[in-house]
Amino acid sequence: MSGSAARLNAISAVNEYEITAEPLAFEEIGDVYGINVFNKKEMKTRLPKGVFKSLIATIEKGDKLDPAIADVVASAMKDWAMERGATHYTHVFYPLTGSTAEKHDSFMNPDGSGGTIFEFEGKQLIQGEPDASSFPNGGIRATFEARGYTAWDITSPAYLMEGLNGVTLCIPTAFVSWTGEALDKKTPVLRSMKALNGEAQRILKLFGDDSDSVVTSGAGPEQEYFLVDRNFFYARPDLMAAGRTLFGAAPPKGQEFDDHYFGAIPERVLAFMADAEYELCKLGIPIKTRHNEVAPGQFELAPVFENANVATDHQQLLMTVLRKTAKKYGMECLTHEKPFANLNGSGKHLNWSMGNASQGNLLDPGDTPHSNMQFLVFCAAVIRAVDLHAPLLRAAVASAGNDHRLGANEAPPAILSIYLGDQLTDVFEQIKGGAATSSKAKGTLQLGVDTLPELPKDAGDRNRTSPFAFIGNRFEFRAVGSNQSIAGPLVMMNTIIADSLGYLAGELETATGGDESKLAGAVEALLKDVISKHERVIFNGDGYSEEWHKEAEFERGLANLRTTSDALPSVIEPEVIKVFEKYGVLSGVEMHSRYETYLEQYVNTVLVEAKCVAKMGFASIFPAAVRYQGELANTCASLKAVGFEFDTNTLDRVTALVKSLQDGLAELEPMIDHEGDILEHAQYCTSTILPKMLDIRAAADELEGLVADDLWPFPTYQEILFIK
Ligand code: ADP
Ligand code: MG
Repeated sequence: MSGSAARLNAISAVNEYEITAEPLAFEEIGDVYGINVFNKKEMKTRLPKGVFKSLIATIEKGDKLDPAIADVVASAMKDWAMERGATHYTHVFYPLTGSTAEKHDSFMNPDGSGGTIFEFEGKQLIQGEPDASSFPNGGIRATFEARGYTAWDITSPAYLMEGLNGVTLCIPTAFVSWTGEALDKKTPVLRSMKALNGEAQRILKLFGDDSDSVVTSGAGPEQEYFLVDRNFFYARPDLMAAGRTLFGAAPPKGQEFDDHYFGAIPERVLAFMADAEYELCKLGIPIKTRHNEVAPGQFELAPVFENANVATDHQQLLMTVLRKTAKKYGMECLTHEKPFANLNGSGKHLNWSMGNASQGNLLDPGDTPHSNMQFLVFCAAVIRAVDLHAPLLRAAVASAGNDHRLGANEAPPAILSIYLGDQLTDVFEQIKGGAATSSKAKGTLQLGVDTLPELPKDAGDRNRTSPFAFIGNRFEFRAVGSNQSIAGPLVMMNTIIADSLGYLAGELETATGGDESKLAGAVEALLKDVISKHERVIFNGDGYSEEWHKEAEFERGLANLRTTSDALPSVIEPEVIKVFEKYGVLSGVEMHSRYETYLEQYVNTVLVEAKCVAKMGFASIFPAAVRYQGELANTCASLKAVGFEFDTNTLDRVTALVKSLQDGLAELEPMIDHEGDILEHAQYCTSTILPKMLDIRAAADELEGLVADDLWPFPTYQEILFIK
């Protein structure tokens, strides 16, 4: 293998890597599970009975938090944390950057006579006041208004983060401005869960469930990611600055043989996975599933689903642990949605359901969905919500990174449609035609070999191409990006589905007028109406196909919002704001702040990438190409001087590409200085800067296949993806 010095160093460092990690210190995995969590078990043993009861009532029933118990809880939490080595505590919060924020404070206080005491009071547990001025607020306030508050979220358990030199007690919190507006991702998640519960209760009451048992949304996010050796990572300025490669020709062998998917997991990767899962296990995050994904170097893991709020916090923690653990094994974990062109990108399939203690999963159809009216009502509410608010759901997954994925031929298209599967589609067809009287049977599979078991068959197949699929007892929102917080998508789903449930409840309450015997007829009529109005959003076919795109857009009138700048304006549509204000999830001001912040993030992301393209192009790729061009030209000239005719074919190609590279870079530079209002700027990034970056890339990638390999400055796709 040849290459520039930086490349060669990276390759030899990777070759010499040996796994040196200590074996994981567990004998009984069950003893380790949740050991770093201040969970119910820990609270029960450490808190007075009355305090424990009051806490559980808040956590499980949503009762108002009693501030009088804070001192007792704080003291117990501190004792527990210090026994496990903690010296500091932090209010963890989730600003609109999508990352996790923390500011650590020590438990230690001088005792006034030369010593120290360790304290943690109720008021420190309940409220924090970080300087909020440097977090994005999307115009909610001026920068000089710095005050922000964090508020203890008792419903998401506190936990310990272990570092090399110390342990920190982490307390999940909501983060709001001095004027009370949500500056974070958690506050609206909690508010949206409240909205969903309220409206779901109305439906449950109609069906005779007066238990008041809280309905929560459950979320199970599957995380896809890439692993690359850190030596390659640091030899690629684009991976470092942008999290994705901005240059790089397709390797001779990519993913065409599907030989990576579910393949044997490479040894170093398996060691990493076991370690990460061990850490997550201590944090009470149960990882169920791990496997190789489709692209070389791509993997996936999935935890068991939890309530939406806890799942969101755990998902953030999971990404932190993956990144941290990868470094321990000499690798970088890439969660970008599209780190490598021409290979599959990464998503975060978000499995979503709703349920409560008295009913279980409200999206479980049972064996005969046609006769399960309550299920059909909940299911119809989702269908109606997705049809009415498809552009909003598209906006919820909009980011510069995810734009490379949505609409490409491997990920769900940007058109939001619902896959229901054969059985449910048939049931709703029957409802539309009058009344549903049967459900297609699940059946069994005979394998033709007596020694193999007969397999029970699911009622519907899977559909990989649908962005929003019903899979047995839940919906899977597949368009979510691998790098994003699941908070946004959950807030949108919970709120629009709450609104739909509210609509259905209202109609049914009116139609029955409290008379139970009228319910069946009312449901039948209502479902018929809902399905007739919203069936356009149901699509069971191939979401990648050209025909679907045409049909969706021209025959069904479904939105196809291809980019972030197309999608984000949906967030501030008056009808959308009306729904969010109705449920107190986000005010108009808060919606606008999100719109502004996410547009700004989009613009900043594209600008960082553009600057990186300019730097790598001008300072590394162009010089390599020109050197090689000079070499070729010299050879031609000296051969000609002694009378040989030399075919200038390669020289001509290189010369043309060098020119187009140089022209492209020269055109890109002034674009970086473009100014405009935020939406116009975002549109300019989409329509002008990104295509220019692609032009430049096309020339550079072709040069990669022509220029002498010992001059090529950056590790290639082949090297990054296949040297393990
Ligand atoms: P797939 O086969 O689609 O890749 P995985 O096994 O990787 O599925 O992940 C499925 C995810 O769905 C898991 O996180 C799982 O806990 C979650 N899940 C299962 N049932 C529910 C449910 N009722 N509500 C929400 N999430 C669920
Ligand atoms: Mg999976």
